[in-house]
Amino acid sequence: MAFHGALRYPGYKMASTGTSSTVHRKRVVLLGATGSIGENTLRVITAHPDKLELVAVAARNNWPKLAAIAQQFNVRHVGVFEDSAFAAARRNAGDFPAGTRLLGGIQGLIELARLPDADIVLVAVVGTTGLEPALAALAAGKDLALASKEILVLAGKFVMAAARKHRVKLLPVDSEHNAVFQCLEGHPNAGVRRIVLTASGGAFRDWPAEKLAHVTPADAVKHPNWSMGPKITVDSATLANKGLELIEAQWLFGLKPAQCTTVLHPQSIVHCLVEFNDGAMLAQLSPPSMTFPIQHALLHPERAPGVDSPIDFTRLVGLEFRPVDEARFPMLRLARETMAAGGVAPAIYNAANELAVAAFLDATIPFLAIPRVVEQTLATIKNFEPTDLAAVLAVDAEARRMTAAAIPRFAP
Ligand code: MG
Repeated sequence: MAFHGALRYPGYKMASTGTSSTVHRKRVVLLGATGSIGENTLRVITAHPDKLELVAVAARNNWPKLAAIAQQFNVRHVGVFEDSAFAAARRNAGDFPAGTRLLGGIQGLIELARLPDADIVLVAVVGTTGLEPALAALAAGKDLALASKEILVLAGKFVMAAARKHRVKLLPVDSEHNAVFQCLEGHPNAGVRRIVLTASGGAFRDWPAEKLAHVTPADAVKHPNWSMGPKITVDSATLANKGLELIEAQWLFGLKPAQCTTVLHPQSIVHCLVEFNDGAMLAQLSPPSMTFPIQHALLHPERAPGVDSPIDFTRLVGLEFRPVDEARFPMLRLARETMAAGGVAPAIYNAANELAVAAFLDATIPFLAIPRVVEQTLATIKNFEPTDLAAVLAVDAEARRMTAAAIPRFAP
C-alpha cells in the first residue's frame, strides 16, 4: 500500500487505498474502562476489530469488571488505581488472562499511558486523576484522546504546550469539542469569530426556580438525553458541565474567553456551532450517543460506519435553540468569570465544584448550595498565574481543603 509522506500515525490504515490491506490496527490504551465513556469505547472497538485493538485498560477500583474486559478483549496490561482494589485484583490474578501484567496506583496508570506497544491513549478517568497519565502519554509521543475535561480545566496551559512540543494529536472526545474539532478541520482558526457549545439544560431545564431548592440527588442524576455517571449528570443540571466545557474549549482551540459561548438546545443533536468572521456557521449533528465522538477520535482521520444509527429525517426531527438564563444557572456565570480572571481560577472552580457535587450527592448540602460553595472558595483563594504544574496541583489541593472545611456551613 502507498503512504503519502511520513507515517506519523503507524496504526492508521490509509483510507484512500480502498482495499483491506492492513499495516496493523491502531492500538488503544483505555484509562477509565469501566465508566460510561469506557463502555461506549468498548462498543466502538468491538465494531471495528480490523481497525482497533485494545492493548491496555485501567479503572479506579472495579477490578472484576476489568478482569471481564481483559478476558473478552485479550488484554495483557491492566491498571487498578486504588490500593485496596489493586491488592484484591492481585489476590484474584487468576480471574485475568494468563500472563496479565497488573499495575497499581498512579504510577501504574502512567506506565500504561506510555506503553511502547500503543498508538493512542484515551483518558476517561473521572476528575483530575488522568492529568499525569495524559502528560506521560504526550511525552511518550502517543496521540491523546481526551474525555476527562477536568484535565484541561486544571492544566490546559501545560497540556497544550506538551502536545505542541511532542507534535502529537490531541483529539477531544467530549461531544461538543469533538464537534468543534470536526467543524474547524480545514478552516484556519483566524477566521473563527466564536464557537457556540450547545447545552441540553440538564435535568432541571424546565423547572421553576423555586422548585430547585428542593431538588434531591435522585432528581439530579436523571438526565433527559444522555446516560452518564452521577458527577457529570449533576454538573449538567447546574450547567457547571457547560462552564467546564467553555474553559476546555478555550484551551483546545486557542480562543479568547469571549469567543466561547453557549446556547440551550434541548434535543442534544446539534453539538456545536462554529461562527466564522463572515457570519456563516457550521454545525455538527449526530444523535446523543458518545459512540459518535469516541469513534471519530479513535479512527481520525478515517471515517467508518458508526455503531449507532444516524439521524433519520424520514421521522419528525425538531431542533430548538434558546438563550441560557444565567440567573437560574449561576455555575455558568462563575465559569465565565474564572475564564476572564485566568490564572488558577478555573482550577479552583473545578476543585470546589467536585467537592460540592459530592456533598450534594451525599445529601450533605442542598442543590442550590453548590454555586454558593464554589463562589466562596473562589473568593477565599488569591488568584495567580502558575508557572509550573506543581503550583496548579498545590492550588487544587488547597481549594479542596478550603471547600471541605466550608461545606458543613452550607448544610440545611
Ligand atoms: Mg459534553
